[in-house]
Amino acid sequence: MNNFSYTKANDVKTAVSLTNTSDDNKIIAGGTNIIDLLKYFVTEADTLVDINQISDINGIQELPEGGLRIGALLTNAETAYHPVIEQQYPLLSKAILAGASAQIRNMATNGGNLLQRTRCYYFYDIHTPCNKREPGSGCSAIKGYNRIHAILGHSENCIAVFPSDMCVALAALDAVVHISGPDGERKLEFSDFHRLPEDAPEFDNNLKKGEIITGIELPEKGFAENYSYLKLRDRASYSFALVSVATGLALENGKIKEARIALGGVAHKPWRVKEAEDFLVDKDASRENFLQAAEMIVKGAVGFEHNIFKIGLAKKAIVRNCMMALDPKSQRPGAKPSL
Ligand code: SF4
Repeated sequence: MNNFSYTKANDVKTAVSLTNTSDDNKIIAGGTNIIDLLKYFVTEADTLVDINQISDINGIQELPEGGLRIGALLTNAETAYHPVIEQQYPLLSKAILAGASAQIRNMATNGGNLLQRTRCYYFYDIHTPCNKREPGSGCSAIKGYNRIHAILGHSENCIAVFPSDMCVALAALDAVVHISGPDGERKLEFSDFHRLPEDAPEFDNNLKKGEIITGIELPEKGFAENYSYLKLRDRASYSFALVSVATGLALENGKIKEARIALGGVAHKPWRVKEAEDFLVDKDASRENFLQAAEMIVKGAVGFEHNIFKIGLAKKAIVRNCMMALDPKSQRPGAKPSL
């Protein structure tokens, strides 16, 4: 780890000003990813800017137009166990609790969850080429061991996946990211926040220099009646998704009125295909229709030597998760879905 200095920002303006001054001034909140990155020499910091004391980007507020604003500094655990989130946005709660460990969820913040870096092993090994860590050096994963890597939206420069569970649910819920920066405040649709690697894999998202996340807006519709989050991974806990699916359905007399399906573990950002969601509208909530939607979602997927299995796995996971969303009982802890 390189030497760095440490300072506290007591308000958003100061945090923005400090991060805008130099790319080597890095924000720290929960520290669950940045400390690893510093320890492994993946990143360096001149100054760590601690934002934990900025009270106006913490907590949960109801919005006058409906929905909620959850603070960037609220921890993942505080968010998942908040009674309003549990009742109105159980999909988000379930996705958060599928991620990491209890200890990490107690420290990790919502803003940090959006900003975490990929867990590609080559990214963390500074002795191997990696375009994300060192642009232009090459991608070790494409011809290397690529079991955890992308099948959708990848480029010849990077096949990394975004590792969050929480963000898969936020994508399905059409969340909005609140941002403050040198030019003031702005909002970004969740689907526009993270980006695909294209020819600049060093950028994970569309934040501009000096901008920080201040909160996440949840629209009123939480799909609390029919939802499910399914995470498939190599270990039963404390492991990143090979494939995950967040599903929210609005049903009327057995017909689907609205469908949201987001995939995690398969791309550089949470993956949604509007065509597939539109296909389901006014259709029966049947396995056959979910399978057709799944085919649309993974259309164009390309796997590599060790992850080609993810294409079939993703299709099955989508169908299974949509069926689970029909059965609220399957969402209770310890319940076995009747499938
Ligand atoms: Fe680096 Fe991306 Fe290739 Fe992994 S997949 S080695 S993060 S460029």
